[in-house]
Amino acid sequence: MSEIIVAGAGHGGLVAAIKLAAAGHKVTVYDRHKKGEYYLDQRDSFEAGAMEYAGIEIPEHYRAKSNNLTFVAVGDDTPVLTLPAKEGSETLTVERKELHEYLISLAENAGAQIVYETEIKAPLILGCRVAGIETDKGRFYADLIIDACGMNSPVRSNLPGFTMIEKSPAHFDVLHTYRAYFENVKDAPRPETNYNLYLYNDGTEGLMWLVTDDEYTDALIARFDETSYSALAPCLHTLSIKNPQMGTKLIRGGYFVDIPVRQPLAVLVADGYAAVGDSAFMTYSLKGSGIAYSLRAGTMLANAVLADSDGFYTAETLWEYEKTFFREIGFGACRIAIAKNFLPFVTAEEVDRMFATGLISSEELQAFSEGRLETVIKGKFFSTLKSKLQILGEMPELRSKLLTIVSNIGRFAAVEPSFPNRYERSDIEKWAEKYNEFFNSVRRSPSQELQTDNQ
Ligand SMILES: Cc1cc2nc3c(=O)[nH]c(=O)nc-3n(C[C@H](O)[C@H](O)[C@H](O)COP(=O)(O)OP(=O)(O)OC[C@H]3O[C@@H](n4cnc5c(N)ncnc54)[C@H](O)[C@@H]3O)c2cc1C
Repeated sequence: MSEIIVAGAGHGGLVAAIKLAAAGHKVTVYDRHKKGEYYLDQRDSFEAGAMEYAGIEIPEHYRAKSNNLTFVAVGDDTPVLTLPAKEGSETLTVERKELHEYLISLAENAGAQIVYETEIKAPLILGCRVAGIETDKGRFYADLIIDACGMNSPVRSNLPGFTMIEKSPAHFDVLHTYRAYFENVKDAPRPETNYNLYLYNDGTEGLMWLVTDDEYTDALIARFDETSYSALAPCLHTLSIKNPQMGTKLIRGGYFVDIPVRQPLAVLVADGYAAVGDSAFMTYSLKGSGIAYSLRAGTMLANAVLADSDGFYTAETLWEYEKTFFREIGFGACRIAIAKNFLPFVTAEEVDRMFATGLISSEELQAFSEGRLETVIKGKFFSTLKSKLQILGEMPELRSKLLTIVSNIGRFAAVEPSFPNRYERSDIEKWAEKYNEFFNSVRRSPSQELQTDNQ
């Protein structure tokens, strides 16, 4: 039996806690919040398959009616694009606090101990090993520290350089987000589509969505730059003009919070340490959904820990977790991150013209948003290539931006094979360097003007 600390009650950490406590390990989860409190007052959607993967029973009321995302561009007359329903994929919708309490109750039933109101400050390092956590309640040591502290994890960001684990996200890696639920205006006409993503105002410098439910209208506005309520107020105003069902009375939420939207860490593990969920930047980087990835990754991590019969939990044995994660999720997530890195380079007007001219179809937009560019190219792409080239001929800047993203996907195909199958420190170093260099090269820096291949 090993002593395992889960630092922060993030989703992936709780799933690992459930499985490891059930297998007889002494698992303690530390979190800063009070029992029964949660910091986000919101509903979330995620893929049902992730709960099944984690072997967690799905409460029936989590099952949601299917809600297809509609992209709305800047022009009033520009046609909207609604993504087709995804076959074989079911969506769950649940109150965030309820899901959190459900996972906590499963962890407790499996034998894990949850310690609330404990602020984690930093990792404790002994030699070259992560050996515990420093908290406001004292120092706690364990055989393994699972970092589920989220995007700003003080464990990850204070790890020594020799772990090769990136400490902080860069600009354009984070969406600064305002989320608020407004009362519906009774008798106001309902929109034709109720799950809308708006690509206008500041264009692709961020995004905003409006979800119209029976009870409320849920607004989310996100920006790559730091923002404020006064900066976002005009966007809220535009949303309310376009959507008469959106009332002005705030009924819940109304807070700012950051979401990581980037590729996962190049290295997730060190001796005595593994990051899972947002602390390892495991979100779907076009919209910041990370619950499903976290549930799956927590399961993969628990499997790797259980397979280490010596209980040393070195970077070498934990590499099995990283390997499974990259094969099943990480490489796909990287392609989505490349697609996302394209967003800050395009303008709202260019998006509008792509929609208005039919340059991109809803199937192509879906494949793009899932990082499946090869599907775009294999599909009806060639039969429509001539007309696409004609349209792009009139938009040379957009053409070179699109070529840049295709070339970036191609360049990433050359990075992928350098992922080490076995843990060999020099190979891991080479992998991390190549991976991080690649993503630095495709990311727009704050001072950079829009840049394309032919500039
Ligand atoms: C506005 C918004 C909307 C979102 N919508 C969706 C959605 O619809 N679907 C979806 O799949 N994902 C969504 N996400 C993303 C999702 O929240 C995360 O990707 C997912 O929760 C995985 O993160 P996590 O559980 O690893 O970390 P977190 O959810 O950040 O949890 C970290 C835990 O660690 C604790 N903690 C942090 N720091 C400390 C510390 N120093 N000491 C002690 N405890 C600490 C926190 O209290 C918390 O319990 C959304 C995120 C936001 C912000």
